[in-house]
Amino acid sequence: MKANDSDLRERFERLQALHNISTALNTTLDPRQVVSLVLREAVRVTQADSGSVVLLNPETGRLDIEDSFGLGPDAVRVKLRMGEGITGWVAEHAQPLRVSDVTGERRYVAVREGVRSELAVPLEFEGQVQGVLNVDSDRLGAFSAADEELLLAMAVQAARVLHNAWLIRQLRQRATQLETLITIGQDILLPLTLEEVLRHIVHEARRLMRARLCSVLLLTPDREELELKASDGAGEDYVRRPNLKVADCLVGVVVRRKRHLTIPNVQESDQYRHTELARQEGLVSLLSVPLVSGDEAIGVLSVYTGEPHRFSNDEILLLTALAGLGSVAVRKAQLYEKVVDVEEQLRQNEQLSALGLLAAEIAHEIRNPLTVVKMLFHALDLRFPDDDPRSKDAAIIGQKMDQMNRILDQTLTFARRSEPELKPADVNALFDDVLLLVRHKLAQQGITLQWRPAADLPPAALDRTQIEQAALNLILNAAQAMPRGGTLTIATQAREPGVCVSISDTGVGMTDEMQQRLFEGFLTTKTAGTGLGLAVVRKIIDAHHGRIEVDSSPGRGTTFRVFLPV
Ligand code: ADP
Ligand code: MG
Repeated sequence: MKANDSDLRERFERLQALHNISTALNTTLDPRQVVSLVLREAVRVTQADSGSVVLLNPETGRLDIEDSFGLGPDAVRVKLRMGEGITGWVAEHAQPLRVSDVTGERRYVAVREGVRSELAVPLEFEGQVQGVLNVDSDRLGAFSAADEELLLAMAVQAARVLHNAWLIRQLRQRATQLETLITIGQDILLPLTLEEVLRHIVHEARRLMRARLCSVLLLTPDREELELKASDGAGEDYVRRPNLKVADCLVGVVVRRKRHLTIPNVQESDQYRHTELARQEGLVSLLSVPLVSGDEAIGVLSVYTGEPHRFSNDEILLLTALAGLGSVAVRKAQLYEKVVDVEEQLRQNEQLSALGLLAAEIAHEIRNPLTVVKMLFHALDLRFPDDDPRSKDAAIIGQKMDQMNRILDQTLTFARRSEPELKPADVNALFDDVLLLVRHKLAQQGITLQWRPAADLPPAALDRTQIEQAALNLILNAAQAMPRGGTLTIATQAREPGVCVSISDTGVGMTDEMQQRLFEGFLTTKTAGTGLGLAVVRKIIDAHHGRIEVDSSPGRGTTFRVFLPV
């Protein structure tokens, strides 16, 4: 009867302990707190002298002591491998182990003197070992089968809560990462030049991944080599490293397959080219992800850690996401650099168009007198005796005149080809495109753009390329008239019998005299100007049967109005 009584009491106490712990566990989602709660309760109910909870570190594969009770500071620093010691054995086999006398146990690794017996159970959730719960006693055979059962039951509960706590922590971490990514995304899109963009990317990537070194390599135009374009945390030797051949270097795989690559330790890898350099710079684990634009890889973003590190899927995803943002920023910077060239090209086009114009005019002017000369020549009906050398001369004159005529014909056909090919087009959409090209330039020059497209605009008959060129000319002239900023207002309007576009600036303006000579050509006030821009604009508008007007006052600004028929 008595034995039964104490048996009952013991069972009651155990149930009580289990109940306590599950209530307590349900009040927290902090893994630290979960661990310490379980440990305290485990030590208490088993009347142990010391205890610990070790958790498996997925990055190092080691078992780190997360919390302990009754162990010295040295013991806390112990890091066991899987399979090492009783704890390691329990973690590896996912089975509890109860040792009544540790002196007779070859698996035992002493972390505290005086321990005689030990009980260890795995913390396991859905078949995955997360860690081990240990209790030790200074007495021999201190733990019973019932203790083992109880500890196991507690471990099951703790493991479930730990799992949830981790999930939540991961979610929180991801949310923070996402936030960081968004901020970084905005930051790396700000700078204009490619160099600045890349510098931003490597800096942010290194910070985000807590890496020792971060670098961006971009493919050379022939796509054969990878060139270091930016790095953060690198020494001089690394920066001076020669280009890598895509065909036979390790990270070449990243651009060839457009897939990430990890190397646990570059200093020990046979395939890694610069082991010596890696040792010098203290580089250990490498993660490289491709920079992709459209369908094509354009380069590689790499991070190196200074300690051995196993990159988790999350980290790979994170760097890949950053590389995605980076690629967009790179593409944007490259486009911007192109836009800057547009102006120069435009200037050359201006000259070419004007020359073409001139050539056609000259051809036209020569053709008429030439026709007359030819007629007169034939009318002369020059006949010389066969042995007279002048008969040969007369034949040559005839031939040469025909040749000149052919040249004139060709020149005129060529000039005629620049006649506009009129097609119905949306003038608003056309200006949308042109403004895309100059938006950055305007912003950089402190010019506010007011773009007012009319909602009810009928399509106009026009040659898109030519009108685009004319529009760019007018906009760039306006921008050049506002070197210290101002407002550029562009508006479209339906105006019988067609469309009117007005381009107004708040720039330097022009005198009346200038306005009158404006479209004649070769009038310029700029050191790098050609004075041909407006002549070409005028020619284009004329060819469209349109009209251009100017309205300007010095110091106030200028408005150009272009009318195009529908
Ligand atoms: P360029 O731009 O090469 O000088 P253009 O034919 O385009 O040649 O312009 C001729 C001149 O007309 C300019 O040098 C400038 O003095 C004047 N001009 C053109 N557009 C404007 C404007 N929006 N505001 C003030 N001056 C202008
Ligand atoms: Mg111009």
